[in-house]
Amino acid sequence: MSDYLNLREGKFPIKIDKFDIKFSDDLSLGTLKNPLIINLSIDKLSSEIFICKGIIKSSFIESCQNCLKDVEVKLIVDTNLVIKDTDILLDKNNESDESHYQNLKYFQIKKLIEEEICLNYPSIIRCEEQDCIEFKEISNEKKIQPFEKIRDLIE
Ligand SMILES: [Zn+2]
Repeated sequence: MSDYLNLREGKFPIKIDKFDIKFSDDLSLGTLKNPLIINLSIDKLSSEIFICKGIIKSSFIESCQNCLKDVEVKLIVDTNLVIKDTDILLDKNNESDESHYQNLKYFQIKKLIEEEICLNYPSIIRCEEQDCIEFKEISNEKKIQPFEKIRDLIE
């Protein structure tokens, strides 16, 4: 599948069941463990409104935020998005809603997938190992230290 879809001229529905993606580094996601499992369908509701439904399954390797051990982050995103042209967004004075905005003539499915993954990606990554908790206590002490030093200076 090419990088761009022209939703202005395509035949609908457009089925996407395979997509090789390399996530942009600035998204700060983990390392993708397996290729994404994708089953998406883009349908046309009107000349300006499209809908994307389906599932994006992904599995990332991330470091536990406490002990830095590798953790697998499994993400199943149930996608149900309204797609509108960026022109509409500009007209509406940047009013935000649940829709996904892109240039419909040069539609990048990659952007839609990235947005869906980022919106659903957990902000806290923790392993469930028992010794993880011990490390957490140590790191908390480290965080407190600078304040103790300041307190010592004040006293
Ligand atoms: Zn951990």
